[in-house]
Parts: sequence; C-alpha cells; structure tokens
Amino acid sequence: MHPALAAPVSILRSLLNTGTNVTCPVCNRSFRRFIPGGGINRRPDARCPACDALERHRLFGLFLRRTTNLLTRNQVLLHFAPERCFRQLFKNSANGEYVTADLQSPLAEVHTDITALVFPDRRFDALICLHVLEHIADDAAALKELFRVLKPGGTAYILTPVEQSLEKTIEDREGSTAEERTERFDAPDHLRKYGRDFVQRIGSAGFRVEAIDFYKELKPEERKKYGLIPGEFIYRCTRPA
Ligand SMILES: [Zn+2]
Repeated sequence: MHPALAAPVSILRSLLNTGTNVTCPVCNRSFRRFIPGGGINRRPDARCPACDALERHRLFGLFLRRTTNLLTRNQVLLHFAPERCFRQLFKNSANGEYVTADLQSPLAEVHTDITALVFPDRRFDALICLHVLEHIADDAAALKELFRVLKPGGTAYILTPVEQSLEKTIEDREGSTAEERTERFDAPDHLRKYGRDFVQRIGSAGFRVEAIDFYKELKPEERKKYGLIPGEFIYRCTRPA
C-alpha cells in the first residue's frame, strides 16, 4: 500500500474494531481483536488495525516500554529501515534527535547503504535495526558499520529471524532462484537463515551481545492481551565503553 494511503485506511479499520480484548503495546490502543496479516505466512491475529504492528513488533514495543529508556531519555537515535509503527512511536516520544535511514524506503529521511553508512563515527547513542541483515549479502560489513556509528557505551537492537533450533547459519549460494530462497530461507529476498551463531556474528563486529527471549518472560495473559507469538529473540548489542 502507498504510505500516503496507510494512515486513513488504518483509522477506518480501527473504528470498525472497537473493544478492549487486545492491546497493541506499540501504539497503546485497544481493540476487539487484531486483524489478519503476515504475507505468505498469513495469520488471523497478526496485525494491529491502527499502526500495522505485527506480533514481533508488538513484542519489541512491549520490551522497549518495559525494559529500556529509549522512549524517554535525551539521545541521538538511529532507526535503520524504519517501520511505520515504530517511526510514529519514536517521533511522538523521542527526546533529542531521531534519525531514520534506509537504502530507498520513502519512510526514511536519509538514503544510505547499510554497508557504507554516510554517518560519521560515534554519531549515535542508540540504534535499532530490525529484520534487515537477512537481506544483506555482506552482513559482516553492515554490522561493522552499525558498530562504527555507535558511541562507545551505546546500545544497538539488531534483530533478524533466527532459527533457534539451528546451530549454524545456512547461507545463500550464488545464482539461487527466488523459489529456492523461499524454500530454504522462508522468503524470496532472504539470503540466509540465521542459526544460534548469530550471536557470534554480531560479536565479531565488536559488540557485546545478549540474546533475550522476552516472550518467555511474559505471563500467558500478557501474551494473549498483546497478541504475541514465540520465536523472536531480542538481541541487545553494546559497544564496549
Ligand atoms: Zn498498534
């Protein structure tokens, strides 16, 4: 959908969905139910009718609100590949400077390649980069760049799909077809399926990494209220001071 149409359509959808059964922790609004979404892997309660947050966005939104100060403190924050739901949240709540960047997304203010960022060294106090690296051929170069632009002591939230039952990442072969990539990596534009060694890959760029299974920490009634599903780990990556 064209970004200019997204907002009016969302307002209409949420008016038709009044209730308090479920709450979206990204936009903080309540509804009768979430709505279907999720692309090729379609699910009945995937999407927030107001801000379009999917389950994994809602999990990260709840994590942000409960465990971090990213929505309240004075900071210079980089959001790479900005999702509409988080962009709105940060624009409404961020103190200091909020910078959005992407190779070509119309939602980003700065257009730049993640493997060669236009930003100077140590520019940001914090950054978030969700579900980008699985699309990037040279993900090691991207991680080095994210490390470079972060201040020492700064925190990066770098999330990707990670198959926790897989020890080692499975990489793409040169010349693979879209069908093969969908079969092996769950989407035609994914270049690999990360395994648990994702932690070491981030660590190789210099970060100290914590893999957080935040879903597991939540009560069953919270999972239901916020419409969450398991499987998305949150990777908190710190540049040592
Ligand atoms: Zn929402």
